[in-house]
Amino acid sequence: MNRPLAMKAINYWWPGTSMEILRDDINLGKFKAAIFDFDGTISLIRAGWQDVMYPYFVEVLAATPGAESLTQIEHLVKEFVDLLTGKQTIYQTIRLAEEVEKRGGEPLTPLEYKHEYLRRLWEQIEHRVQGLEDGSIDRESMLVPGSMGLLEELRARGLTLYLASGTDEPYVINEATILGVADFFDGGIYGALDRYEDFSKAKVIQEIIKDHQLSGEELLGFGDGYVEIENVKAVGGYAVGVASNELTREGINEWKRSRLTRAGADMIIPDYRELQELIDHLFPHV
Ligand SMILES: [Mg+2]
Repeated sequence: MNRPLAMKAINYWWPGTSMEILRDDINLGKFKAAIFDFDGTISLIRAGWQDVMYPYFVEVLAATPGAESLTQIEHLVKEFVDLLTGKQTIYQTIRLAEEVEKRGGEPLTPLEYKHEYLRRLWEQIEHRVQGLEDGSIDRESMLVPGSMGLLEELRARGLTLYLASGTDEPYVINEATILGVADFFDGGIYGALDRYEDFSKAKVIQEIIKDHQLSGEELLGFGDGYVEIENVKAVGGYAVGVASNELTREGINEWKRSRLTRAGADMIIPDYRELQELIDHLFPHV
């Protein structure tokens, strides 16, 4: 496919698609490695986690001596949870503990908050994990549409693929396995560790670049959150923002789109359904 004429435009839609191109000054097609976020980017197993975390954190903060109005607390929680999305969950509970302290409360440890959050989340997602394990839930329905095809295509083009998630590593490995995507990630699957200082997406990216002696333009990144987009851009890689609608599996999530745009994404897509067009854009000379 020929590239659209509007090469210098800062914002245009790839003709006939829902792919939004935000930057055009990057040399495309040289990619040797790709790094993927997991939840919301590949997997829908944990879709709706925000609806567990927000109310839990609000409940905790509302019980402190210096609590503001519920509306104010809700706003604050949404703000800091979203900014930290993509990092390990513990960073969100570290912040929660700090906010409790600021309001004169006696916080639990961040790890205790994290465990309680995971216990509540598990109630919501357990049936999905079990359904995938026993085959009563179709894998496809728990994947961002087109994920399988994209991973196959990138591997066929010789890219090394990495998966890096803020979710605890054993869960990420298990969930990638039951979704049938684990084997695509020949570069490895990385997730949050108990020694949380030892993991970050930025660290994984640094290792990829060192191991493969990559330049920035050889790295491709996919994510639906702030952190991974910023990390990929920080090393000069190409960042695809996936503004997936996790509930309907259809169309753009506008709120994610604006976040990803602000984080510096080079393009925004709803999912990987328009695979051929996406590949044509990413690999224009091949
Ligand atoms: Mg995500």
